[in-house]
Amino acid sequence: MQVVILDEGSDLDAFSSAYGLTLLSPDTYILLPNSYDYKVRKTLDIFQEKVKNKVLKKQDVDFSKVNKAFIVDSQNIPDLDIPIEIFDHHPNKNLKRKNVKIHLYKTGSLSSVIVKKLKKQKIKIDKEDATILALGIYEDTGGFKFLGTTNKDLKAYSYLLNVGLDLIKLKYIVSDTFELEDTEALREIIKNVEALPVENKKVLISYLVKKYNKDTAWILKYVRPFEEADAYFLVVNQKSKKTIIARSKDKDIDVNKIMFQLDGGGHPFAASTTLVGFDYGEIKNFLTYLITGKDKPVSQFIKNDLPVVESDLSLSQVKSIINRFKYVVVLQSGKYAGILTDKTVNNAIKHGLKNEKAITFAQELITVSPSITFLQLLKVVSNYDIGIFPVVEKGFYKGVIYKKNVIKTLAGLNEDKPLFNLPSKVKTVNYSERLKRFFPKYVLDLLKEIGKFSEKLGYRSFIIGGVVRDIVLGKQNLDIDIIVEGSAVELIKKYAKENNLTYHVYPEFMTGNMVFPSGLKLDFATARKEEYDSPGSYPKVEKADLFQDLYRRDFTINTLAIEITYSNFGKLIDYFNGLVDIKEKRIRILHTLSFVEDPIRILRALRFAGRLGFKLENKTENLLKHAVEKDLLNFAPTGRINLELNLTFKEEKVLDILKIMDKYKVLYKLFGITLDREKEKILVKLQDNFLIFKELLNINFPSSNYIYALLSNYPEEIAYNLLKKYHFDKEAKYLNEFLSAFKTIEESQDRYTIYKTLKSFNREFLPALTSFLDSEKFKVIIDLLKKEKNPLIKGEELIKLGLKPSPEFKTILEDVFVKYLNDYFESKEMALSYIKKKYLKEV
Ligand code: ATP
Repeated sequence: MQVVILDEGSDLDAFSSAYGLTLLSPDTYILLPNSYDYKVRKTLDIFQEKVKNKVLKKQDVDFSKVNKAFIVDSQNIPDLDIPIEIFDHHPNKNLKRKNVKIHLYKTGSLSSVIVKKLKKQKIKIDKEDATILALGIYEDTGGFKFLGTTNKDLKAYSYLLNVGLDLIKLKYIVSDTFELEDTEALREIIKNVEALPVENKKVLISYLVKKYNKDTAWILKYVRPFEEADAYFLVVNQKSKKTIIARSKDKDIDVNKIMFQLDGGGHPFAASTTLVGFDYGEIKNFLTYLITGKDKPVSQFIKNDLPVVESDLSLSQVKSIINRFKYVVVLQSGKYAGILTDKTVNNAIKHGLKNEKAITFAQELITVSPSITFLQLLKVVSNYDIGIFPVVEKGFYKGVIYKKNVIKTLAGLNEDKPLFNLPSKVKTVNYSERLKRFFPKYVLDLLKEIGKFSEKLGYRSFIIGGVVRDIVLGKQNLDIDIIVEGSAVELIKKYAKENNLTYHVYPEFMTGNMVFPSGLKLDFATARKEEYDSPGSYPKVEKADLFQDLYRRDFTINTLAIEITYSNFGKLIDYFNGLVDIKEKRIRILHTLSFVEDPIRILRALRFAGRLGFKLENKTENLLKHAVEKDLLNFAPTGRINLELNLTFKEEKVLDILKIMDKYKVLYKLFGITLDREKEKILVKLQDNFLIFKELLNINFPSSNYIYALLSNYPEEIAYNLLKKYHFDKEAKYLNEFLSAFKTIEESQDRYTIYKTLKSFNREFLPALTSFLDSEKFKVIIDLLKKEKNPLIKGEELIKLGLKPSPEFKTILEDVFVKYLNDYFESKEMALSYIKKKYLKEV
């Protein structure tokens, strides 16, 4: 057999010529590419019967049976070990290869050449053949208007006219008819176009999530920005898969090679692939690294700076080695056996296990091979919320890769510099009067008592973080966090015992809490440094522990502390100019790598900005934009993203926060969405609905209703995947019910049907459900729910009528209720007389 291999994205002339070749020699089949021009699709649809036995998909071909391949309208030579014949009407690319024969023609279309051959060989063609062949001629000569049109094209066309080509079908196929779904898809693609960070080249990418049932390749030529690009990629969401369509005009960007790395292929200038389990951010990273050739083994990340111990060493011996390190590597007979953390070692020793062997507590963790490439590493690092990845080869320990270093490289940030002006002297302000005004007396007395107690133990204690910020702002807050320079756990245990209080301690985290008879809960933590060391350039600080504890924090506005130790009660300490930032209404991170260290801070920054009406300080804003742009949110654990989103949804100013998240493209990065007018309207409605339904039904609605509103215009599969990804498990579980209830209510005019749908619907999500409805339907729902709350007739009324409680009761009540829903009764009296007539047979 022989095959005509069509390039990715082939157009009508390629298809018509290929079709002509199948007429010229029987036993020739057309190999369809994964994507082709939409006019080819139209042709395949219209001439289904005619072409169905002539086209094959690549996977259906047994190449051992193919003895020749034709290439038409292109000079891309496939990698096949059989004779290849090329027919083209484009300039010669001077490709020379054994076994390859090239025929080039100077005609407007290649199809004209094939028609001439058919005519010369006196091969009979029918009207449908003539139409299919004419398509290529018409298209490639622009209806004979293009400058390249030749006499040969006209002659061939005229021959086909004589055969009786169907002009109506031809016109239909060659016309660029845009249907609504095409324009919508196009608009979405254009809106989502962005540049990949590739130096000296214009490489664009976009994505399409709207349900679009056609081949996408054809609309690409209408995406204006793509026209001017050296290369472009379109990512199309299809259920759980993503298809990437790649095009290039630049010989340095071989999209075939790039797609090959992602398990796809095609040609250097047009290729595609389908991926499962990658999100858009990851795809962009992958493409950038593949284009720039940065995807090499990652030896530069492998560090050998951790102590190594043998597995039978006792924990107390490990403790003497672990020293200032957070981890030690455990080997068994020279081979990697796991990692021990300082916390585990300390805790085990505290529990009297100092003679236990290192191996007993070693954790294996996720290991990587030294030949792992940067892209593979990125995938691993973004999938696991672990700070280190041991590098192991054939069982032997080769070093360790720190997550932070990988993300730093991805973000292109290296230096960690403070973002605040170091005060020459630590600023302190006497806040004792403010505290008196701020806290209820019982809280103030309690804090004083704890301050006294901690002084007795030789500790210093401070209230810190959010509550201090709110004291400065004069905003009520009794969420009190206390930092102890000393041991928070000891303080809690002793104080609670003395005062007979309920308490919890978590020695491994050096934290705990106490609950007071008033119900007030105080959280305590020992001041600590955690993993990021502070740069050496700080002024000598009063108490390094408190300073270091505060330096770990997210924003300057959250770094204020007020001492409660008896002798310094009420002294506000401001290391990082937090007071000025609060006054100037600024959110400022503490150091340049803050978002790299913890990308969740991106969300926190915007939440505080929205809640407090603050602006991002300039450098913070730039670093945040950069972090978002570099997709650092991909490296935040999805569970923490869920927590942050839920906190956002609970905020009073949730809409402001969502708008800010939209402005900084965070919604786009997390969900691929932007807030258009329509969505904003839904969100405003949702906010009102919470109040309306709370009053009506007295239910506490979960704030996660917002997630349904945000994902409202997605097809079900995509919304489901996003809900699962960010751990909105309950919302994912009810998604199908939610959508089908919405559909029924939207489409139905029958009040009873609507009511039945509402009855079985999980009402927790009523605010979101109703925020998509038009005002008429909304009124119906409110009316139905009111009627449900206050039915016209209750059981006792039936008894009053002399009916005896029986199963018939239910029938009667339901009958009356259905009629009531449909406004059949104007009053209770009407309902009663209906019952009398129908069920008591009174006249
Ligand atoms: P809220 O008013 O929302 O409770 P808060 O400031 O008290 O605000 P929490 O989430 O309770 O916020 O956190 C307590 C403190 O812990 C914060 O003030 C901040 O200093 C610190 N913190 C919280 N999350 C982070 C983080 N991701 N990175 C650094 N510090 C953080």
